[in-house]
Amino acid sequence: MSYLAPAGTALSLSEIALGFAHGLRAQSAAARLIERLCAVSSLPHCWPISSGRAAMTLILRSMRVAAADQERDEVVIPGYTCYSVAASIARAGLRPRLCDIDPATLGMSVEALERTDFNRVLAIVSANLYGLPDSLTRFERIARERGVYMLDDGAQALGASVDGRPVGSFGDAGLYSFDKGKIICTIQGGAIVARSSAVAQSIAREVAALPQSSGLEILSNCIKLPIYAVCLRPMLYGLVRKLPFLGLGRTEFEPRYPIARLSALQTGLAADLGIRIDALNERRRRVASQLAAALSDLPGVALPTFSQSCTPAYARFPLRMLNAAARDGVIRALDAAGIGATASYPCALIDVPEVRAMLRDPAPTPGARQLASQIVTLPTHGYCPEDLGERVRRTLVGQPTRVLAT
Ligand SMILES: *Cc1c(COP(=O)(O)O)cnc(C)c1O
Repeated sequence: MSYLAPAGTALSLSEIALGFAHGLRAQSAAARLIERLCAVSSLPHCWPISSGRAAMTLILRSMRVAAADQERDEVVIPGYTCYSVAASIARAGLRPRLCDIDPATLGMSVEALERTDFNRVLAIVSANLYGLPDSLTRFERIARERGVYMLDDGAQALGASVDGRPVGSFGDAGLYSFDKGKIICTIQGGAIVARSSAVAQSIAREVAALPQSSGLEILSNCIKLPIYAVCLRPMLYGLVRKLPFLGLGRTEFEPRYPIARLSALQTGLAADLGIRIDALNERRRRVASQLAAALSDLPGVALPTFSQSCTPAYARFPLRMLNAAARDGVIRALDAAGIGATASYPCALIDVPEVRAMLRDPAPTPGARQLASQIVTLPTHGYCPEDLGERVRRTLVGQPTRVLAT
């Protein structure tokens, strides 16, 4: 049966082959990717890296080196975000401090951030989940007032902006991811971007000391890419999504990962895809606006709110249901209709044992727990049909009334 994958970047085999071919000229591919990401982020520095989490570890280590106060070993992160964020903090030898979420915006609550104990904080990290910009101007001001660094995590938001300012460019340094389900895909991969500062100098030193990706790692990623591209097509995804060894949609806390340069072949593909960021996001925004129009008046469905000055990237289209039971019912019904909806990350970070064990202050984050129980994400990628909004609406309306009751 035809099945829409929950997220992804629609790629053709010839695009992949051409990207790899461009990667054979390693220096020119790296120069193109760096130039493109500097333009997209409006920042002067960029370093392609083996993954978004490796990028985050390098940035945090560099902030630690640049910081005047070596007692500062905590990183403020949203109570609900990708588990890799907490894993990157562990890998950098630091501890997370959780800040609660505003479920309506999906990002850190500005009030909760203002109440945070900054005594031992090194940096604040944003999330911009699903490509929806956080309250980045406010976060940046709070970081400056409290004398801490800010890392703008644009892993899911490459090409999004707030008041014309690119996500990834707020604070001292930012990152993008090229993993599966992000804005552009090289299976694994990412980049650091930064403004000129002591942190950037420290990042440059860290990156200069990085190894190349291992041959095995490169081979594995380059074999997975064409398989990924073919399997993302709705006709095949319906067959392959159940194969356990693909590990699709699994979320784990895993601090062991390579920290290396992005391979030349993946750099070549990323540079080619870099040119298409606006077109890819334009299409995702069109799907998102159809979904929003089709679902906005359904009782029991809450669409995320964000300021008019935001241009989201919509790696996925998020919405919230009343509770976990309603949410799970909706995901099952969409699944039966061939639409890959997900419950996103399964838990608030406070409920991930490895994360909780790192906390100095395990204060409750009720907003993050609420969001974890309510969220549903819908696909926005290039294989989404024109009538996706209508199809989702019909599926939700066909649900028992307890699901859609107000
Ligand atoms: C995916 C993701 C990361 C990590 O990126 P990888 O390339 O998967 O290592 C970091 N932060 C957020 C918010 C993400 O979604």
